Amino acid sequence: MDMLHENVQDSILGATMDLEVFQKCVQSNIVLLTQVVCKKFVIPDFEQFTLHINRLYENAHAIKEGEVANYIPQLAKVSPDKWGVSLCTVDGQRYSVGDTNIPLCLQSCVKPLKYAIAVNDLGTNYIHQHVDKEPSGHRFNKLSLNQQGKPHNPMVNAGAIVVSSLIKQGANKAEKFDYVMQFLKRMSGNEYIGFNNSTFQSEKETGDRNYAIGYYLKEKKCFPSSADMGVALDLYFQLCSIEVTCDSGSVIAATLANGGICPITGERVLSAEAVRNTLSLMHSCGMYDLSGQFAFHVGLPAKSGVSGAILLVVPNIMGVFCWSPPLDKIGNSVRGIHFCQELVSVFNFHNYDNLRHCARKLDPRKERSEVQHKTVVNLLFAAYSGDVSAMRRFALSAMDMEQKDYDSRTALHVAAAEGHLEVVKFLIKGCRVNPFMEDRWGNTALQDAIRFEQHDVANLLMEYQESYASSLKSTESERRQMSLENLESMV
Ligand code: GLU
Repeated sequence: MDMLHENVQDSILGATMDLEVFQKCVQSNIVLLTQVVCKKFVIPDFEQFTLHINRLYENAHAIKEGEVANYIPQLAKVSPDKWGVSLCTVDGQRYSVGDTNIPLCLQSCVKPLKYAIAVNDLGTNYIHQHVDKEPSGHRFNKLSLNQQGKPHNPMVNAGAIVVSSLIKQGANKAEKFDYVMQFLKRMSGNEYIGFNNSTFQSEKETGDRNYAIGYYLKEKKCFPSSADMGVALDLYFQLCSIEVTCDSGSVIAATLANGGICPITGERVLSAEAVRNTLSLMHSCGMYDLSGQFAFHVGLPAKSGVSGAILLVVPNIMGVFCWSPPLDKIGNSVRGIHFCQELVSVFNFHNYDNLRHCARKLDPRKERSEVQHKTVVNLLFAAYSGDVSAMRRFALSAMDMEQKDYDSRTALHVAAAEGHLEVVKFLIKGCRVNPFMEDRWGNTALQDAIRFEQHDVANLLMEYQESYASSLKSTESERRQMSLENLESMV
């Protein structure tokens, strides 16, 4: 066996190919390979990005609060320690950490997916003749309709039961179920999609509230005339019991992030219209009674389910699927919510984060070198033009005020050479930058000031060099503290 292995290895190592064979090998994957070679992925420094994800995962791991849903035994018996996060970018880069390979039920996470299928097949107008688009302001399983006698939205049970009645009308129960399963399979790039029959049976047995909603919807004529309430409810319970893993769930989320095209297979699974509607409703109604807060703080479309799953979409970037069974009082996964909040506090993914002036957050869409070039140019330009208020803004947004350009010149060099006394004062008193930094010709800022006959600046820098040299004897942390206090007093 070992010899066979060695032989195969030898033949692979010794293999050569001519240009024609090489072209044949690469042509079917040319887009992906070009992206790899040119580092043109939506998240170019993916490895660095995943290090942050690991940290956020670990932070949430430490949280032990919340209760596992216990209204059916199939959910109650799941370990509260399970915790997984998978992500898939719109160009197919994948990352998983924790329990990402274990089947779990979608529960309410299926609601946006079946709504997307319904809109894809029947169009927005038809679907919204039967279900509205407003947050309900009530619990997800409340027996209530809006003033026009429609369910408030497809993310609450009443709306989702009506949507179940709209899918594949005229087909029998088995065909309807197969149809949705096939759709989800395509959204997941043919990864794991299962069905948990005991969850389905338990949901039916304990689903009195959903039956009550069903009868109420029937009484108020919310179903299309040809639909049968019992069939719609049955499909509703079945769809809650469909299983995914975090891995397959993240591809589904990525298909939504990618406008309906699965990033793994390249297949268009959903229309752009269906995806846009779905994301809008996830954004306003996806997180039970936390939806408004979530839209405010996280600013991303998401849907959670009682199994502890959260399907999170970062439009045009990636899909994320988190799973941790312990829920808060509202019904959202405690670790999942924490992870989502931290994700947008580190990265500028919130819908209303400013992508041009958000120096406090990281932008993983950019390469590290690209970010660095941009900030150093901005900083040196502000120093060159004597713009103290821009310098103050940069300092307050945690920019490194000592950073150097390709000639190793710093803001202090530039401001000193130009004779901008106020900028120099700000850099030394507010930011306590190092005055001994040398550019590529070995010059300090003081030498620049002398050379360009900026006498006031030169005097100031001379004094500062002395005080800085003696402060070097104090500890680094004292120096930082001093500089923070100085900065605060100057703004
Ligand atoms: N099977 C649950 C119900 O219909 C779904 C709960 C959920 O995940 O929100 O009540």
